[in-house]
Amino acid sequence: MKLCRFNDNRLGVVDGREVIDVTEALDVIPRSGYPLPAFDPLIANLEAVTQRIGALRGQAERLVLEDVRLLSPVANPGKVVAAPVNYRKHLEEVLANADLHHDVKINHIEKAGLFLKAPSSLVGAGQGIQLRKLDRRNDHEVELAVVIGRTADRVSRAQALQHVAGYCIGLDITIRGPEERSFRKSPDTYTVLGPWLTTADDVPNPGSLDLQISVNVETRQKSNTADLILGVAELIEFASSFYTLQPGDVILTGTPEGVSPIRPGDVILAEISDLGSMTVHVSAKAEALDQKVA
Ligand code: MN
Repeated sequence: MKLCRFNDNRLGVVDGREVIDVTEALDVIPRSGYPLPAFDPLIANLEAVTQRIGALRGQAERLVLEDVRLLSPVANPGKVVAAPVNYRKHLEEVLANADLHHDVKINHIEKAGLFLKAPSSLVGAGQGIQLRKLDRRNDHEVELAVVIGRTADRVSRAQALQHVAGYCIGLDITIRGPEERSFRKSPDTYTVLGPWLTTADDVPNPGSLDLQISVNVETRQKSNTADLILGVAELIEFASSFYTLQPGDVILTGTPEGVSPIRPGDVILAEISDLGSMTVHVSAKAEALDQKVA
């Protein structure tokens, strides 16, 4: 099943070129008050929501997919975990180019570990990317994104995939430079998740998915998740050996070779087999409010 969030926080099932509005199914999620849970309530209750969708979808309103504004399919991930240099050819490209490594020592992922992006950086495909620091290089990175479905604490790679709710296309937008990765990769809108959540039952082998990205119709990155250094199961094992993964936590699995700059006005098309494709518009962040006032 392909589940989307759209317009004013509505829930939909994507059916071909249509979206079935099943927002009413959210009523099965227990209400939470302060303090809010550390997990995403939709993903934590996905089974009950899915059952309710089954009862509703026959009578529900159908909308044209092209006409809805897609939001991030996960609204409130507790963590956005990301893998640095997790494709061999991308590692070679980073080591060879000072514009990418900025004299920061690049380690193999098993030495480097994983990093975190601020959940506040997350948007959906319909919201677009607003670039900051236009005097610096801003790059696209297309990645397979994993959405955790069940609490995972120190799980083995053999058990790891049982903890996955589903998969999305992820964009890990990056300002190049010498600062910490999490700082350069966490501006608002610098993590795009979409176009929807494809549930794990519809992705039989996350280890052999074609992924590609084009900017203004020119192909920039094209690879297959078979070329990941650490695959999905290994990443879950690695991440959960350090911290507990909660329902709704997102893992960005890393990007293949071909990273390149994006600029305001660009149109990105990202595709991953089994998951679909998404169009994302790039603009410039408007001037800061205090500059406008002055
Ligand atoms: Mn990345």
